[in-house]
Amino acid sequence: MSNDIKSSTANTATPEPAANFLRNQIDADLVAGTYARPDLPNVITRFPPEPNGYLHIGHAKSICVNFGLARDYAGLCHMRFDDTNPEKEEQEYVDTILDSVKWLGFTWEKEIAGAKQTHLYYASDYFNKLYEMAEYLITAGHAYVDSQSAADMKANRGNFGEPGKNSPYRDRSPAESLDLFRRMKAGEFKDGEHIVRAKIDMASPNINLRDPAIYRIRHAHHHRTGDKWCIYPMYDYTHPLSDALENITHSICTLEFQDHRPFYDWVIERCAEGGFFKKPVPHQYEFARLNLTYIITSKRKLRQLVEEAIVEGWDDPRMPTLVGMRRRGYTPEAIQLMCERTGVTKSDGWIDYSVLEGCLREDLDPKAPRATAVLRPLKLVIDNFPEGETVECTSPVHPHFPERGNRVFPISKELWIEQEDFMETPSKGYFRLFPGNKVRLRYGYVVECTGCDKDADGNVIAVHCNYFADSKSGTEGSANYKVKGNIHWVSAPHALEAEVRLFDRLFTDPNPDSGGKDFKLALNPASKEVVTAYLEPGMSAAMPEDVYQFERHGYFVADRVDSAPGKPVFNRVVTLKDSWGK
Ligand code: ATP
Ligand code: MG
Repeated sequence: MSNDIKSSTANTATPEPAANFLRNQIDADLVAGTYARPDLPNVITRFPPEPNGYLHIGHAKSICVNFGLARDYAGLCHMRFDDTNPEKEEQEYVDTILDSVKWLGFTWEKEIAGAKQTHLYYASDYFNKLYEMAEYLITAGHAYVDSQSAADMKANRGNFGEPGKNSPYRDRSPAESLDLFRRMKAGEFKDGEHIVRAKIDMASPNINLRDPAIYRIRHAHHHRTGDKWCIYPMYDYTHPLSDALENITHSICTLEFQDHRPFYDWVIERCAEGGFFKKPVPHQYEFARLNLTYIITSKRKLRQLVEEAIVEGWDDPRMPTLVGMRRRGYTPEAIQLMCERTGVTKSDGWIDYSVLEGCLREDLDPKAPRATAVLRPLKLVIDNFPEGETVECTSPVHPHFPERGNRVFPISKELWIEQEDFMETPSKGYFRLFPGNKVRLRYGYVVECTGCDKDADGNVIAVHCNYFADSKSGTEGSANYKVKGNIHWVSAPHALEAEVRLFDRLFTDPNPDSGGKDFKLALNPASKEVVTAYLEPGMSAAMPEDVYQFERHGYFVADRVDSAPGKPVFNRVVTLKDSWGK
């Protein structure tokens, strides 16, 4: 398995979007005037999810490509639900998909001359038209009702090396097929008794052209059309015709649909002959799907993670779903940047997960205010600090943007520090607290360690030190102290106690499910750790979805679900440095 892009170091946003074969195609069509139509944009794309699950990072790629092209070419991108599968689809999925697309920063609404247009579509809105077109195809001899059993149909389809065989019903008269089709619609038959197929070529080397099914019987309730229909159009039939009905110009999908393109063209061509739409008609283009390491995107497997309670829901911050990534603190800007940077190609490859994390750090670093958090607390007592007294310390909200001001927090006799910032017997090169050593308490005083307290089992339970009253950061005296160690701390009586969740990748294997592997064997046992941390007091004002850089630890977001006013719960978005590439 090759990783196309190992890590990202570039630090500048691309001013001009990178050229790719889709942009080249659109440029060529603009020059040729292929889609120059009086009252329609020259570029109309669409994002066509099936409302049968939650969107994931792979879908984000398709959203960025389709909505991104429409934006860059001053065209339109239609938001369309391909809802032809009544049993699997639900309104809940429609709602979350719309939410996620908006969250990613795109819209299907457009203002033209002060009037708002809404380009939100449902394939189910075309059921009448799709039905009419099927009647036309039957009448014109381009489709027929097949009444073979499912098993016979499968056996007669042949396979890669072997041509299929014509159905005994293939030469039914159009009149007979039409009568059966109308009775299918009227509900006279059970599921699977009859099916409508396009009449193309049972010997075609492309199996998709061996008389593909276009309509089937399903006595099922549809989330939008209710019980109006008991026949439903197939995806491969619905998709091209929906594109044509919506005047789509460039219909962009992933490579696995390449073999479906001949049928895409065939069905549009036949229906155009029948006068259902005018030329120019849409054309399909395929690009390589986004494959990211360390995640899985199969809807079935994601569902398994949720149903078997391996994660805590579709929006678990470890999930690659957009609702999960949002909760984790990933930003739309970082996801868009990753999609732009990984480009559009015609050959499949893998993108290392660190590329996405790199984009995330790049986006968060300038935005995120700094804050202090002690994640694994140990008490530090400043023995010579006056009991009950506090002194104010200040530090910048952001070291590179002084205009964002300062944060103010107190220091007092008892502090929380990180356990790892004290060693009774220091290892070589350890400059933090150990008996006899001096360190600076960041933004505060220099202290000298004098010893520690231990419990009956020999565990260190408190560290003692004395401070130098003239060493405070920002005062003249501070220059007289040269110390190598600089540690963070929060004042114990003032600190905000908070739940902090230390998330990491869900899988330890870069390709958890490739080659038929059981992805459950690759689960990272350390993907979630919950700690009780102490934060600087101002953090009680953190609002859900606010992101901070906890100095030395990484980026953390106030969880949008579990935070309460004055009582934020934090999720680790990403550490400061990549620890997986080592
Ligand atoms: P399935 O069809 O198996 O239910 P799907 O992931 O294809 O799953 P759709 O709802 O059909 O789900 O996807 C909507 C769009 O997102 C399609 O155009 C599809 O090609 C695109 N898409 C899905 N996964 C990726 C990916 N990893 N990279 C790029 N585009 C993707
Ligand atoms: Mg699909």
